[in-house]
Amino acid sequence: MGVTAHFLNVGSGDCTIIHFPERVRKKDNSEKPERIMMVDIQHHEDHPDYQNVINYYKANFKRSDGSFKSIFRFVCSHPHQDHICGLKQLLDEEGIKIWNFWDLDHSFEPEDFEGHPTHEDDWKAYKKLGCDDHPCTTIRTTRESEPKQFWNDDEDRITILSPSKALIKSAHYKDNGEKREKVEIDEMSYALSINVNGRKIILAGDGRAAPVWDDIYTNCKKDLENCVVLKAGHHGQEASFHEEAVKLMNPKFIIFSNSKDEDKNNGASKLYKKAVPKAEILKTCDIGTIIVDVPFDDKESITYSIRK
Ligand SMILES: [Zn+2]
Repeated sequence: MGVTAHFLNVGSGDCTIIHFPERVRKKDNSEKPERIMMVDIQHHEDHPDYQNVINYYKANFKRSDGSFKSIFRFVCSHPHQDHICGLKQLLDEEGIKIWNFWDLDHSFEPEDFEGHPTHEDDWKAYKKLGCDDHPCTTIRTTRESEPKQFWNDDEDRITILSPSKALIKSAHYKDNGEKREKVEIDEMSYALSINVNGRKIILAGDGRAAPVWDDIYTNCKKDLENCVVLKAGHHGQEASFHEEAVKLMNPKFIIFSNSKDEDKNNGASKLYKKAVPKAEILKTCDIGTIIVDVPFDDKESITYSIRK
């Protein structure tokens, strides 16, 4: 038994589902409930190559009575379209409840609604999540937030690597203090480390090597050690590759969530291979949806399976 991470094959975008099973803590025999955490969404209604996120969720997260399990925590790493599209449909779906919504403290607005066909509707749904139509608890947290209620022993042991307060500030303001015309929202993207009894799943977010990964590498070295699964930054593209951080994480598996074209043009496979030659790079565009199981018992090995 362990924590399972589903990296859905959604092309150029992200949808990661982390499943924390119901279990009993060895230390004091206390029961911990099952929890489902979805990080970002990029839904395809009817695409021959990509996963329909809603159908995938319904097929894989069903209760024995046929109803659907709730999403305990929906994390929007940052509200660019490749991380929110499909949100309206998810919220409209009968029977899938979201309890907690992790948002960012920002003033970003999209410049246009081109791209994904439901972008505008999904942006509106994103703005409304946590309000009257879709009540849930909205959480805007940072690396410095106290108390750190999400990463103590009783919780899901999630450490926030990014954003820091400094990254939020630099996403909104230039070095000279002037407000940026356009908020650099990906530069304050959530990057999270999930600790499974010492072994870590790290979701690197979309932040670039500078300033985001420089900031993480400088301030969070301990949180990067013992990484076993790394969801590569910015879909595995070169912009997010940070050599020292990747070497320190030294993961067993590296996941790229991207389209074939974007990976061909901007992918950083060579850089990752050079930095951590023993790591296995798994790409959703090559093999489909990837499910990695990190057992609670650290003597058990980490395995993965694939779903088309
Ligand atoms: Zn992205």
